[in-house]
Amino acid sequence: MTTSDVDLEDIRRNLRATLAPFGPDYWRELDGARAFPDALFAAMAEGGWFGTLIPERWGGADVGPAVASVVVEEINRAGGDATTVNAQMAICGTLVRDGNDEQRQRYLPGVVDGSVRFLSVAATEPDSGADMSTLLSTARRDGDGWVLQASKVLISLAEHTRLMILLVSTDEGPTLFLLDLDEVGDAVERHPIEMITNRLTTSVFIDELRVPDSVRLGPVGGGLKCLMKGFAPRRVFAAAEALGNARFMLDRSLVHAKERVTFDRPIGQNQGVQYPLTHAYASVEAADLMRWDALRLIEADDPGASGRSALAKILASEAAWETARAALTTFGGWALSADYHVERKLRDTTVFVFNNLLLSYVAERVLGLPKAY
Ligand SMILES: Cc1cc2nc3c(=O)[nH]c(=O)nc-3n(C[C@H](O)[C@H](O)[C@H](O)COP(=O)(O)OP(=O)(O)OC[C@H]3O[C@@H](n4cnc5c(N)ncnc54)[C@H](O)[C@@H]3O)c2cc1C
Repeated sequence: MTTSDVDLEDIRRNLRATLAPFGPDYWRELDGARAFPDALFAAMAEGGWFGTLIPERWGGADVGPAVASVVVEEINRAGGDATTVNAQMAICGTLVRDGNDEQRQRYLPGVVDGSVRFLSVAATEPDSGADMSTLLSTARRDGDGWVLQASKVLISLAEHTRLMILLVSTDEGPTLFLLDLDEVGDAVERHPIEMITNRLTTSVFIDELRVPDSVRLGPVGGGLKCLMKGFAPRRVFAAAEALGNARFMLDRSLVHAKERVTFDRPIGQNQGVQYPLTHAYASVEAADLMRWDALRLIEADDPGASGRSALAKILASEAAWETARAALTTFGGWALSADYHVERKLRDTTVFVFNNLLLSYVAERVLGLPKAY
């Protein structure tokens, strides 16, 4: 299904009704408690949103990436954090594309109704970081199965998920495994990492865990390729999250700029407040156009989608960063108080600003510059 087949305004209206009970105060409380948004997750399951990208034969609605991008944007625009919903909608894409029928039939209907949480991909390692070609985590063949040895860091939601995709190296190259933590969770050590935001991030250790070959996801040696097939839409979802954060801060800043009076006039009458907000608005609108262009190319299966989605992510995350700066100026000292929700959104904004590898990708693949790594 493509964007032209769905009424996105109608979808936004539906979403806003679903999200009404989950305003900024709900998110502030979760943020303070570093807790999982159980009530929001249940409401999104009830609304069928987790099936946005899952084909109908496994219970999904299959309405396409534009809708998924609107879902995460609306959650963040309402003052929330779409991390969990983004993960549940999008990570299963690898299973949809590269899983076998038994795996898909077993798990996808539960992903749609929310009874199976599929929230984690464990790729990053302590020593390799951004460089996924130098994995030290391994799977070695053992009869008709595998023995996994893995050390992963910065893994989101690993303590809250039932399914986890694990990327490890084998003699034949990087390979994915689909771990069901209801079955092997005792052998998967997870330790929380304290972060600037409530991203529920962990380190993950697996020591000599034997698994059957049926747990492998996709071809042996094809793990990175399988993951990369999902990169373009996932960049757009990150862009949409950043845009939602930006619009939340911009909306509130504009109200504050009109209402707050100092020196006998609204602060928004001062160019020192007006111009940063206007620049931020321009950056957000421009990044949003890039987001829709990337979605157009993704839906058309156009090879240019990859570069376009990278640009959408870069521009949207920078626009959100710029908006956060403008919100700081607008709210002054109150920007740092939890009461106004700006400081929390400012922290959420930091999650999206790591763009170096995307810049390298665009430099090489779009601009034809020499390969950087
Ligand atoms: C909130 C959060 C959640 C995350 N969730 C997950 C998850 O669920 N699963 C997962 O697998 N990973 C996750 N990550 C990890 C994320 O993918 C890594 O942070 C990222 O891959 C970079 O690794 P690193 O942080 O070790 O940085 P490093 O690799 O140490 O890099 C440090 C800096 O140097 C830059 N850099 C490195 N090499 C180059 C180069 N060749 N050219 C230019 N710049 C370069 C990087 O861009 C970065 O800015 C998460 C990270 C965060 C912050």
